Formats: sequence, C-alpha cells, structure tokens
Amino acid sequence: MKFSFLTLFPNLISSYFTDSILKRALDSKIIDIEIIDFRDFSTRAHKKVDDFQASGGAGLVICAEVLENTLNYISTKDSHIIYLTPVAKRFNQFDAKRLASNYKHIIFICGRYAGIDERVIECFVDEVFSIGDYILTGGELASLVLCDCISRQIPNVLGNSKSLEGESFESNLLEAPVFTKIIDNSKKVSNLSIPSEYLKGNHSRIRVFKNHLSLKKTKYFRPDILKQRQTNAK
Ligand code: SAM
Repeated sequence: MKFSFLTLFPNLISSYFTDSILKRALDSKIIDIEIIDFRDFSTRAHKKVDDFQASGGAGLVICAEVLENTLNYISTKDSHIIYLTPVAKRFNQFDAKRLASNYKHIIFICGRYAGIDERVIECFVDEVFSIGDYILTGGELASLVLCDCISRQIPNVLGNSKSLEGESFESNLLEAPVFTKIIDNSKKVSNLSIPSEYLKGNHSRIRVFKNHLSLKKTKYFRPDILKQRQTNAK
C-alpha cells in the first residue's frame, strides 16, 4: 500500500515514520510513503498557496489550483483521494479495514488555515473524514491517524496478526481489561488482584468472562456502539 501525503509541513509527517511499527513496515516495503509539499506546485507569486475567502470573512483558504496541479501530477486511476476535515463523517475501525483491503494507493490532503477551496472536494476527492469533534490546526495529525489505523490492518504489518483479534470495536465491543503478572509486591498496584478467572488457564472460560467484561465496559463508556451491536443482531 502506498500513502501519499499532500501537506505544507512535510516534517510533521516524516517524523512519524522514524520509529516503531510503521518504520518497520516501511523498511520491509509493506507500505510506501510519499510526502509532497504542495507549495512546490504553486504558480502564484512567491509560491503563495492561500487566498482570502471569496465570501469575505476571517481565515485564508488554500487555493484550488495548487491542489489541482499537485493531484494531476501524482494521482493515477487507482488512487483513492481522501480529504481530512471536520466537515465529514467520523473515521472508524470499519473504514480502516475497508480502506486497507480495497485500495493500493491512498492520497491524503492535509488542510490548513480555514480549509481548502470546496471545489477541490467536489472535483477530485473520493472520501472525506473527520477524526473527531474538535478542530486541529491542520490535517497532518488526522492523516497520520488514518494511515496508522489502515496500515495495521495490512497483512504482516503487525508482528502477530492475532493481535487484531478481539480488539476494541470488533463486534461493536470495547476490549476487556488486560493485565500482566506483577513481580514486585512492594508496588501499590500489587494490592489490586487480577480477576481470578484470568489465571485459571481455561481459555474458553476466559473468553466468556472477557466477553462479559467487554459488555460492561462498552455499556458504561460507549452505549452508542452497544446499541449498534443490538441493532445488528436483529
Ligand atoms: N474552518 C474549518 C472548519 O471549521 O471546519 C477548520 C479548519 S482547520 C483550522 C484546518 C485543517 O485542519 C482542516 O482543513 C483539516 O484538514 C484539518 N482538521 C482540523 N480538524 C480536523 C478534524 N477534526 N478531523 C480531520 N481534519 C481536521
């Protein structure tokens, strides 16, 4: 899978790939990244990329032409173009799985300032996603959130693909608590015991018990997704 990032701040993107799982995926060529400073495609004086809003009002807007020039240069018929914006449906785990299995090249447009000229979305963008109900200064973090979530769904990116099983949001549930065995009894946390069922080694009973805890956690923290689970079961 290739990810292209269209940004005015390339360093914000590249730094994320210098460590950990995505670095390993990059080194082993399971994923590939391309970081494009779209200022390079500006034909305006001084490589300007933004302009006043046509309607008047505060905040500059990224001009359509510079993004059109960039997209014409890097996209192919197989590219899937995503713009990160608060004005969109919220990205979720099902989107991550779908994008990981359906596309070979994803292009992220990272907005800045008051956003991008709406006509770019109309003419070029295949999907828009928000990462949450708040405003970031730019789309870089949001694009990295998507890239990270999508990448870990690609075979061999995680060391052990079993790690994906039973994660939060699978089957519309949050994950049950996880523990290690504490070996230093002088620590405050050692006064709290692990649920005894976890330690008995009976894996089918552990699964049932964890499912019970998952339901409780989901009911408490995310009744909305539990409702979705109940609707799906009908
Ligand atoms: N004026 C825009 C609005 O009110 O919807 C916000 C613009 S924001 C300051 C600049 C850029 O950050 C956006 O163009 C978008 O690319 C990105 N961004 C900000 N919040 C985001 C979010 N919650 N999800 C995805 N992208 C976001």
